[in-house]
Amino acid sequence: MSEINRGLFINGAFRDGSEGKTLDVLNPANNQLLASVAVASIEDVNQAVEGARAAFDQGGWGVAKPKERARFLRRIADGIRKNLEDLAALESKNVGKPIGDSRWEVNAGAELFDYYAGAILIHGGEMPPVSAPGIDLTFRQPIGVVTCIVPWNFPFLMTCAKVAPAIAAGNATLLKPASYTPLSALGLAGVAQEAELPAGVLQVLVGPGGTVGNAMVEHPLVGKISFTGETTTGTEIMKKAAEKIGRISLELGGKSPNIVTQDADVAKAASSSPMSVFANTGQDCCARSRAFVHQSVLDDFVNGFIEATKNLKIGDPLDDQTEVGPMISKNQRQISLDYIALGKEEGASLAYGGTIPSDPSMVDGNYLIPAVLVDVKNTMRVAQEEIFGPVLCVIPYKDEATMIREVNDCRYGLSGSIWSENLSRAIRIAKAVESGNLSVNCNSSVFNEAPFGGFKQSGIGRERGLYALEAFTEVKNVFLSIDSQFQS
Ligand code: NAP
Repeated sequence: MSEINRGLFINGAFRDGSEGKTLDVLNPANNQLLASVAVASIEDVNQAVEGARAAFDQGGWGVAKPKERARFLRRIADGIRKNLEDLAALESKNVGKPIGDSRWEVNAGAELFDYYAGAILIHGGEMPPVSAPGIDLTFRQPIGVVTCIVPWNFPFLMTCAKVAPAIAAGNATLLKPASYTPLSALGLAGVAQEAELPAGVLQVLVGPGGTVGNAMVEHPLVGKISFTGETTTGTEIMKKAAEKIGRISLELGGKSPNIVTQDADVAKAASSSPMSVFANTGQDCCARSRAFVHQSVLDDFVNGFIEATKNLKIGDPLDDQTEVGPMISKNQRQISLDYIALGKEEGASLAYGGTIPSDPSMVDGNYLIPAVLVDVKNTMRVAQEEIFGPVLCVIPYKDEATMIREVNDCRYGLSGSIWSENLSRAIRIAKAVESGNLSVNCNSSVFNEAPFGGFKQSGIGRERGLYALEAFTEVKNVFLSIDSQFQS
């Protein structure tokens, strides 16, 4: 895959949009043009939906045997691995992600296709023991045409996490990547084309969320929308879906806690935690951006955390040593700078970072030195609002009950970490925290095989694991009578 795919991918072929519009895609490390890609019109969306429905019905994807669909998924997994270096480099150039992270994510994308190729072979129904003479069977059936909309922070991984289960379950799938980062989704389309995935099963449409994305949500033939992005956008999509009782899964924003208790291995927590909030330059829905630290270990944690942050290598995403790359855009960086200024106005102190690096190799990019705000109160806006940048808020606590109340006093509930060598305490806190995904003594609990999703305004539904197959199917119940006298 030496060439970047620049077209829309509709009915198995790359092509220009019907209005001939294009979108410039920039490299956030230097803000230079990376590619111009075709933009879909509403007419293109309509054609893609109709093509997808035809693939589902006449094309037979909806009734294809699971092992036939699995064969295509395995081919796509192989194709991703064959193109791993090209796809990873493309992702790093487009997102600003360190190349090591991109390689890991592209490989995880391949593993998602492998996983769902296997999972669909065992994803069956049930036989509920009904009180009637006969056999009751439940079936899981594909929904039909589904729309998947992804954000710009993990474009390839999110794409695979949605497309793999959606097509494994027998749906024809429309995919809209974010306008900042359409390239790896078009790369996946190229892999699907090489794998000879039947035309129309995967349609990739690039274009603004407000028009193209909206049309992909509103179209009456779209039965399900799987969306990952901001909570405000998710709210709009939920309203639109409600008008047709469309199925939805929403993976939304977060403001996750990193809880460091009095019996934590503080040195380990401090040296490890910077990447729980600064990985992907803080542009991570799961970023542990609120550190709740027990008063007795506060100084040790903050000093160790800052020391480890100073050692992070910031720079060129294509350099193997880089740990923190640029942010997606100057605008996204400015949002972080504004929040840092706001935090100081609210009474917090900036203990480290929060400035633009002066190194000449970085001045043209959207770099920002990760920031550590201390003396933060949970009621401050910096502690409540998703900054989506490399900004940590440190909130000291004295007693566990108050800390848990504060952790939960937030509209989000996506993820979080607990650091404690006392297993009873760790489990007690984990049960009390209102979040969908928690990790103990490490930075993440996101796995292809395990459910992922949020409490409260962090989303609705679960993806990954077998949960994603449930999210992309309808349940049908059939009762088979074996008693000719049975009437009910
Ligand atoms: P966003 O602005 O909500 O955009 C996400 C996607 O939705 C993009 O493809 C966007 O297209 C599209 N879109 C925008 N408005 C739309 C509309 N009215 N109808 C249909 N589609 C629309 O989010 P973002 O800035 O890309 O991503 C950052 C957010 O995603 C953060 O809040 C982060 O926490 C969240 N996130 C959550 C998870 C999770 O799993 N919970 C994972 C990653 C990120 P355009 O690009 O053209 O605007």
